[in-house]
Amino acid sequence: MKTMREIDEKIRNGSAVVYTAAEFKHLIREGAELSAADVDVVTTGTTGVMSGTAAILSVPVAEPGTFERAERVWANGVPCMPGPCPNERLGLVDLIVSGTAHAGAGYGGGHLFRDIVEGRGIEVVVEAADRSVEAEVTIGDFSYARLFTTRSAYKNYTAYLNLQPTRVKTIFSIGGLQGPCREVSVSGCGEINPLQNDPLGLAVGAGTPVLLNGSVGMVTGEGTRSTPERPNLTVIADMAGMQPRYMGGFKTSAGPECITSLGVAIPVLDDRQVAGLRVLDEEIPLPVADINTRAVLGEATYADVWQQPDREVTYHPEWCEECSTCVAATVCPTGAFSRETGIDRDRCLACTACLAACPNDALEAGEGSLRVRGRRVPITLRQSGRTLAEDLCRDLQEMVLDGRFTFTGGGVR
Ligand code: SF4
Ligand code: SF4
Repeated sequence: MKTMREIDEKIRNGSAVVYTAAEFKHLIREGAELSAADVDVVTTGTTGVMSGTAAILSVPVAEPGTFERAERVWANGVPCMPGPCPNERLGLVDLIVSGTAHAGAGYGGGHLFRDIVEGRGIEVVVEAADRSVEAEVTIGDFSYARLFTTRSAYKNYTAYLNLQPTRVKTIFSIGGLQGPCREVSVSGCGEINPLQNDPLGLAVGAGTPVLLNGSVGMVTGEGTRSTPERPNLTVIADMAGMQPRYMGGFKTSAGPECITSLGVAIPVLDDRQVAGLRVLDEEIPLPVADINTRAVLGEATYADVWQQPDREVTYHPEWCEECSTCVAATVCPTGAFSRETGIDRDRCLACTACLAACPNDALEAGEGSLRVRGRRVPITLRQSGRTLAEDLCRDLQEMVLDGRFTFTGGGVR
């Protein structure tokens, strides 16, 4: 049995053994018999569409006294909730902005959050009782800008298909989920998900320091609809330290959604923690449900999603037939693809929507399929980015190794 202080001391003197979850799983697959004596920290992570993400902003928009109280506010066209503090006559507005609020079909709260973090100018419009005020601000003008999540790091999510013959508009599809049983949409980072690696809740809870989109933050507790079998977390962090590539907007057939990334370093205090960390994709159930009724139709595993060769999406411009309209670019939910410039890796979630759309197979990846009721159904959308999540695990590993991220003093229980 180690203590958190002992692990921090090993980090400080350079003797700590710190693996990313991917490195640790590789050792397990190789047959390594690891105990708590062999490892001090494993960094875990998850990246994907997380609807329960919102921002709290405090934004100066006018000279004090210009208006009494903001009644309606938009940021880049995204409707915001003024308050809860009304800030009477101060010329600034406190705002709560949902990551799933929509300015239109192609822009929403997730896009806004990334634009803020990238330092872009944000157009704010305030309607008060007797006037309207407009201002352009950047993150440097904000006196407060934090993201919080209401249910992140969800442990083994559900895959969805459509049993009906007509397309269903849903946040789990870009163009509407085709049926019957024509395609399946998956979410979740499987064996590297933080909560998947802490099944007994020994390491992750209120006060645990985390990386939210690359910024150091903290777990505030359980999230909405969290249960012991399928837990999730609430987390908060300053937007100032966030990295744009780990966040952003994601277009779906039911409007824009919000990409969020969460990294958690798990201190290995004893062999119970090691046992939890040994979990592999092939042991993690992935329920498959009908999008219409949410009735579970079968069960796959995360190996069907993430243990495929060629997880990354590759563009072959030599196979592109230069269609009059590039449907691969049109369908891309993050704006990462164009046939002229290829894939922008800083925006790509590796969701595979472009390769499902391209009629000439100019894009390819090992997207895999799920067996449901004896039938192989192709995975046409991945709403989680395992490679990005592994990158976040590596960032966190580096921060632990160079002492920028410690356990004690961070409020870990
Ligand atoms: S849809 Fe495919 S083949 Fe057509 S222009 Fe786009 S990338 Fe090229
Ligand atoms: S995999 Fe294709 S569609 Fe998906 S984000 Fe990347 S470029 Fe866009």
